[in-house]
Amino acid sequence: MTERAAYESRVPYERSRIRAAAIYCSDGRVGEHFDDFLQNGLGLPRYDRVALPGGPACLAGHPQAHLEEQGVVDELQFLVEVHGLKRIVLIAHEGCAFYASRLELKDRRLELVQRADLVRAAAFVARVTNLSQVEAYFARHVEDRIVFESVEV
Ligand SMILES: [Zn+2]
Repeated sequence: MTERAAYESRVPYERSRIRAAAIYCSDGRVGEHFDDFLQNGLGLPRYDRVALPGGPACLAGHPQAHLEEQGVVDELQFLVEVHGLKRIVLIAHEGCAFYASRLELKDRRLELVQRADLVRAAAFVARVTNLSQVEAYFARHVEDRIVFESVEV
């Protein structure tokens, strides 16, 4: 094993928690957009991240995602208990590969399925965490930008 010099992050460490978490897809092409939206759009610096393929899709009752659902419920309950979460943000994104490959949904009305899934996932998250502040957004591609639209849950 070769020795490497330790890398020191220039980002200052802030101890206090913001008591909010976001559940979103782990697709790295939109990771920085999610960060920008949560931190600057919603004013949630240092939010807790729950990232996995499909994000909130696994909380919408699809049987193909049952194992992920269990894992995410455990994580959320941990964050509520230990990090004192008060608010949870769900984000689905346009063209999410999880829908095409895992759920085998390639319908051109996929966005309607994703929006319905956000509503179902928000109700499920509220039930398993006992939190009332659960909100949802759809991340749309507009030319070379990503626009976050609020979804009524
Ligand atoms: Zn995705």
